[in-house]
Amino acid sequence: MGEFDLIARYFTRPMRPGGAVALGVGDDCALLAPAPGMQLAVSSDMLVEGRHFFADVDPEALGHKALAVNLSDLAACGAKPLAFTLALSLPRVDEAWLAGFSHGLLALADAHGCELVGGDTTQGPLNICITVFGEVPPGQALLRSGARPGDDIYVSGTLGDARLALEALQGHVTLPADVLARARLRLERPTPRVALGLALRGVASSAMDVSDGLLGDLSHILKASGVGARIDTCITSNLIASGAYISGTTGQFDQELALQCTLAGGDDYELAFTAPPTRRNAVAAASQASDTPITRIGTVLSEPGLQLVNAHGQPVNNRYASFDHFR
Ligand code: ADP
Ligand code: MG
Repeated sequence: MGEFDLIARYFTRPMRPGGAVALGVGDDCALLAPAPGMQLAVSSDMLVEGRHFFADVDPEALGHKALAVNLSDLAACGAKPLAFTLALSLPRVDEAWLAGFSHGLLALADAHGCELVGGDTTQGPLNICITVFGEVPPGQALLRSGARPGDDIYVSGTLGDARLALEALQGHVTLPADVLARARLRLERPTPRVALGLALRGVASSAMDVSDGLLGDLSHILKASGVGARIDTCITSNLIASGAYISGTTGQFDQELALQCTLAGGDDYELAFTAPPTRRNAVAAASQASDTPITRIGTVLSEPGLQLVNAHGQPVNNRYASFDHFR
């Protein structure tokens, strides 16, 4: 099968009429028609074999994740997904792999009304780069720079299960099979919080998605906003869904592992955001409207730096570095 047959078979579909795509796959450019007056939100994310995923990962899950991590960036900005492009480097034409990959990818695309409008396909090491396009009304994009002293800090969903699954797959911890299966879904099939991002427009003062670990990502908001924060680690360490199963050799709950996974785990794809305490009702309404659980985990402070406190308000030493590809 040649390059163009491959594109036609796995990555070309009839276009939905009436959408934001005026021209999809097949010409030199795709044409997008965002609603009049809207700003385009654009973001790219690349997944590299051996770096972001194991070579033997289920191709359908990989297709899902490749788009999910990009939709998560649109969610963090409060943008509505419109379309995406796919740049794909493949070692060989493996039709079973392509069928699984395109199925996972396009199923998530359909769930969010986000159309594949073009891309590039070459032979080479397995590498997947997606660029997403979304729309947001001018002035309403959620940015990292809007956090103000006194604001509440929230995070959506659960934290740390993806990292726990990774630790288990690497043989560092042991989990019951059903617990690992559920945690693995968080690692391999993350849920982009698109509906929550949309509901937080005009409510959150700042937002970002948690991809490299809560504390590291939060520090980007703090830096961009010129503020500091206090985080209650007693609350965050309970946000790991598999928490009951984190036990060390003694069989006791391993608090340190729970802290590591929730504070610095990575691959969560939840939203971290801030909002003034006067907007607590609006935040709760956004959570409800988007059917997404959220938890208040701390407070924005005027003095810079990230303070961690335990249940008794005592300081916890911050030794939870986030994932960094070049460290
Ligand atoms: P060009 O040489 O003009 O860059 P290509 O020959 O690479 O175009 O691609 C032909 C068409 O197929 C283009 O419309 C391009 O956007 C699309 N395309 C290429 N690869 C992919 C892919 N992996 N997924 C979706 N569309 C693709
Ligand atoms: Mg080309």
